[in-house]
Amino acid sequence: MAAFRILLLGGTTESAALAALLAGDARFAATLSLAGRTRTPRPQPLPVRVGGFGGAEALARYLHAERIDALVDATHPFAAVMSHNAAAAAEMAGVALLALRRPAWQPQAADRWICVPDMPAAAAALGAAPRRVLLTVGRQDLAPFVVAPQHYYVVRSVDPPAPDSLPPGAETLLARGPFELEEERGLLRHHRIDVIVSKNSGGSATQAKLAAARELDLEIVMVERPVKPAAPTVGNVEAAFEWLAARHARSSST
Ligand code: NAP
Repeated sequence: MAAFRILLLGGTTESAALAALLAGDARFAATLSLAGRTRTPRPQPLPVRVGGFGGAEALARYLHAERIDALVDATHPFAAVMSHNAAAAAEMAGVALLALRRPAWQPQAADRWICVPDMPAAAAALGAAPRRVLLTVGRQDLAPFVVAPQHYYVVRSVDPPAPDSLPPGAETLLARGPFELEEERGLLRHHRIDVIVSKNSGGSATQAKLAAARELDLEIVMVERPVKPAAPTVGNVEAAFEWLAARHARSSST
């Protein structure tokens, strides 16, 4: 019997974990799709295609041409454009869609979060007085902080940010998670950070900074997630794998 064909939209810890499960299972023929943002992506156990499709209609054409049985949107919670394209393309191509969306982080009692809807609001929430800021929002989202140059920024990202995207005088730390509590505590102390800016990404790879901030009684300016389209959704990799196995079983019994 022909394998069940899957297109996995990735770029996350969860997509890599799901790729590893699918790669070891002869029922599935899956391809992992990456946007191509990271210069040196980790090796993957599945065939990988890299780069945008050219919008929702082009993705729908790809799904049709590649005879994809199921599209899994395992993109980052802040990759809203791709998720909207995935929902539209799945509808156009008549392909089953599953969204793998990790739950958002929730504040604990001792947390000092200032929740804001977007990056310009995060820059504004830092206030007028100069502060020492750990910016952990990724290198694509730095522009709003250029207009708040009174702060001293330590920018952490996987790849180097474009020099003209950095706030004046910013220091760059190149690092890729997962991060441990001890190293996050050490980083905050070493740079005498007094506020962190973070996306509410959820997941375990980067959550140690939340516990470190709690311990050191630091504020976190937390950027809320963008709205994603309605879709059948699971919250973890195992549930995504079960959903695909059930779909495969249904398709092979008809
Ligand atoms: P986005 O704004 O939602 O998407 C912008 C465009 O990038 C899409 O229209 C699509 O181009 C292309 N694209 C995005 N994800 C893709 C994928 N998995 N495969 C092929 N093309 C893709 O996305 P983004 O926020 O820039 O994120 C880009 C990638 O980085 C995603 O894979 C995401 O999972 C990962 N990531 C994002 C963040 C974040 O904070 N945004 C953090 C960690 C990882 P076309 O319209 O041409 O198809």
